[in-house]
Amino acid sequence: MVDLHMHSKCSDGTLEPEELVQLAKKRGVQVIALTDHDSVDGLERAGKEAEKQGVILVNGIEFSTSYFGKEVHILGYFLDLTDEFFLGKLEELKIERGNRTVKILKKLSDRGLPLTMEEVLMEVTGPVVSRTHVANAMMKKGYVYTRSEAFRQYIGEGGSAYVAKTIISPNEAVRLIRKNGGIAAIAHPKLIGMGREKVLSLIDELIGDGLDALETYYPGYSNEDIKFYEGVCKEKGLLTTGGSDYHGLNREGVEIGDMNVPFEVYEDLKDRFLQRKTSIESL
Ligand code: AMP
Ligand code: MN
Ligand code: MN
Ligand code: MN
Repeated sequence: MVDLHMHSKCSDGTLEPEELVQLAKKRGVQVIALTDHDSVDGLERAGKEAEKQGVILVNGIEFSTSYFGKEVHILGYFLDLTDEFFLGKLEELKIERGNRTVKILKKLSDRGLPLTMEEVLMEVTGPVVSRTHVANAMMKKGYVYTRSEAFRQYIGEGGSAYVAKTIISPNEAVRLIRKNGGIAAIAHPKLIGMGREKVLSLIDELIGDGLDALETYYPGYSNEDIKFYEGVCKEKGLLTTGGSDYHGLNREGVEIGDMNVPFEVYEDLKDRFLQRKTSIESL
């Protein structure tokens, strides 16, 4: 069993990279991908622990991108961590996250909910600041009872203090991952706030950029959703992927390995990665 989607303290999860690996081992998960938001900072530490524990670690990432005002998340797997161009882009994205947080705090304050950057930074556990941290800070201030209330009312799409991230499109993220040599997938396509028709046309567009897979196994997907996205993958020559999107205490009710994603899903992704690598090297 594998789990190809989870977050550590290096973005908005609550476990250290090593602790994620240990938990995976305890729960009988053979392969994990650590996919922090816009960050590869936890991978080296997770990799060392994975070797110790006999767990396979896939070097992953989850890019936050913007597509005509809608949030689209793109997963990357089997990343080359020595790619300076790639690492440079991640630095730009981290700076944008800081700037966006300043704008969110301004909007919140305009709405009578003052929150300082220091109060948000108290919640941040690594190199990436996320709206999850803003939501946690809002809960501490007593502005909301739950994280989902913070997103629904204020900082989520459609909320009164929403600020989009704008500097990277899903197309660019897919190309960036492919240029790095990695495998690119659309994360939780069902959660993209546009209908299936539009998601299908986005999929076609991203195939043109080098898309490899769709996240077909994800918490909250119905059997019908899974069948639908499996069908889309088959029809369009894409691979499937899946995982829990584990965030530790920052997302209740989700555990590592929850989706019971079969080992073959990992093998197929790895085969595609290796085949491509071999064909590039033999040029
Ligand atoms: P950001 O990366 O700063 O854009 O924040 C996005 C993160 O916020 C996601 O990865 C989730 O972990 C979290 N999130 C998004 N929507 C919700 C929600 N409705 N309730 C709780 N957490 C959410
Ligand atoms: Mn998150
Ligand atoms: Mn996501
Ligand atoms: Mn995620």
